[in-house]
Amino acid sequence: MKVKLILPSLTEAKSPFWRPIKYSLFPPLGLATLASYLEDYDEIDLQDEHVEKLNINDNPDLVLIQVYITNAKRAYSIADMYRKKGSYVILGGLHVTSLPNEAQEHADSIFIGPAEQTFPEFLKDFKMKKTKKKYISTSGRTIENQPIIRRDLIKRNKYLVPNSLVISRGCPHSCDFCYKESFYSGGKSFYTHRIDEIISEINRLKGKHLYFLDDHLFGNPKLSGELFKEMKGMNRVFQGAATIESIINGDLIEKAADAGLRSIFVGFETFSKENLIENNKNHNVKSDYEKAVKILHSLGIMINGSFVFGLDHDDKDVFKRTVDWGIENSLTTSTYHILTPYPGTKLYERLSKENRILTNDWDLYDTRHAVYEPKLLTVDELETGYKWAYKEFYKWSNIIESSFMHDSLKHKIKHLIYTGGWKKFEGLWNLAINIGGLKGMLPILELLLSKVDYDKKGSKNNEN
Ligand code: SF4
Repeated sequence: MKVKLILPSLTEAKSPFWRPIKYSLFPPLGLATLASYLEDYDEIDLQDEHVEKLNINDNPDLVLIQVYITNAKRAYSIADMYRKKGSYVILGGLHVTSLPNEAQEHADSIFIGPAEQTFPEFLKDFKMKKTKKKYISTSGRTIENQPIIRRDLIKRNKYLVPNSLVISRGCPHSCDFCYKESFYSGGKSFYTHRIDEIISEINRLKGKHLYFLDDHLFGNPKLSGELFKEMKGMNRVFQGAATIESIINGDLIEKAADAGLRSIFVGFETFSKENLIENNKNHNVKSDYEKAVKILHSLGIMINGSFVFGLDHDDKDVFKRTVDWGIENSLTTSTYHILTPYPGTKLYERLSKENRILTNDWDLYDTRHAVYEPKLLTVDELETGYKWAYKEFYKWSNIIESSFMHDSLKHKIKHLIYTGGWKKFEGLWNLAINIGGLKGMLPILELLLSKVDYDKKGSKNNEN
């Protein structure tokens, strides 16, 4: 059977703010995972429209499309086109799960929730020509004993970070604005691979660099502890994400640093306790943000801080306060988002009840637009403040100031090159993408992720 797996491009790809490099980072791991359930003799074509032109002159028997909120329109048009040609089209992903009725109109079958549980069942039905309209993942979810991800279908050279992997699905927390909430409803919302499976997957990945795409790499402390123990001495460098709470408590962060963790994504989101409590982000409420930052600096781990603007207690000062804090605390990079009430989340439900949703044009649900009525800000103030924050944080003067606050010279230089390189050389990134040279950038990234001597100041053993 001929099978086509497609990740359609996001609407942002046509925006003047589009940064091709941002979407040439990670390959479509989810599709490569589902491809592992197909037969060896199936003819499989996996295409990611962010990095290649979609070939539509084919006639696959089965087309599988991954739908996010801001690629939904594009996904539906591709789906309609293939259905007209006579292919059997299935749609899955976050957007399909949150709005199944909308997706159903463009598909022969849809997948609600994570598809690892239901895709094998679908394939059996497909062979017997007894498919159902809906495949719903419920209890009994697991990613243990999964077949090996079909990384051979991924065009590695087109990505800066081909070695991305996940050891878990979901997250042990449930923040009201988090998109994953509806995706995992009806069954377990956090589950993991076994340690032996994770180590085998790591061993299959060539090179030195790894990027764990888990929502919370320390979500299962026992498993993470075992992982970092196994990884020590493997000579890998890696990046991942974790909560502030998990950085401060216990010794997982030290174990991770010893195993090669060199940069971490942290969801600070907001400094307002009221905002945190209202949005059920309780694990941040009692967490000392500065302490977490000092611990990470002391271990030489670079920080990508994530912040949300437009929560109900955010006023006009929130932008400057947040940017200043990031610079003063030497965050390597900051990712800012305008609060986005994704359909299916508690936040969407609440704002809907309060009649504050301004549009259901999903293309605008890209965290760059205010799609709801903020409380203490106007829509214009929110969007202007958001743009100002990005510009301000990434000014050369601020990058330099922030970099030079580290103690070690190596850390200062790494910070300067990492941040400047990521945000200030768009033309070079585009050139690298266009000439197929992203592969050549990976050794530079690995160099930037090399170890910095630990600095005792800020470590848990020295509370000064
Ligand atoms: S901690 Fe992060 S991933 Fe987990 S529920 Fe909250 S926002 Fe989502």
